Amino acid sequence: MRDENCIFCKIANGEIPSATIYEDETFRVILDLGPASKGHALILPKEHFKDLCEADPAVTAKILPLAGRIGRAMKEQLGADGFNVVQNNGGCAGQTVFHLHVHVIPRYEGGPSMVSWTPGKGTSEELAEIAEVIKQGL
Ligand code: 5GP
Ligand code: ZN
Repeated sequence: MRDENCIFCKIANGEIPSATIYEDETFRVILDLGPASKGHALILPKEHFKDLCEADPAVTAKILPLAGRIGRAMKEQLGADGFNVVQNNGGCAGQTVFHLHVHVIPRYEGGPSMVSWTPGKGTSEELAEIAEVIKQGL
């Protein structure tokens, strides 16, 4: 299914041109227009899902293997030293385009810090309590 008002539906299905690095029947992988680093790519399913919660597991199951292939190519072809796989769900998590997508961000030694957070502290009691709550929804 497609959403007529969704820019990533149009890009994924080739209606709007993009710097495409990979395409098959399920995905188009493009370069991000505002790259965090050289080669920053976005894996776009051709089908419209708002986010990971709404996505078809048969589609999402193919994403990590593809991200691994892309990351390997970034290391071999661009000289990246590593890469991050990032996927945002919801505005508070940084999602700005509400068509499921996965960032593959090449990382270079000495490059800027990104995808990082300040670790908090959790007691084992607190963690056990939170674990019990989340479990109820699985
Ligand atoms: P989000 O913040 O939703 O996880 O990521 C959206 C990403 O899509 C951003 O990194 C942004 O630069 C990228 N983006 C937004 N619009 C376009 C576009 O029209 N073309 C391309 N190639 N990237 C886009
Ligand atoms: Zn869409």
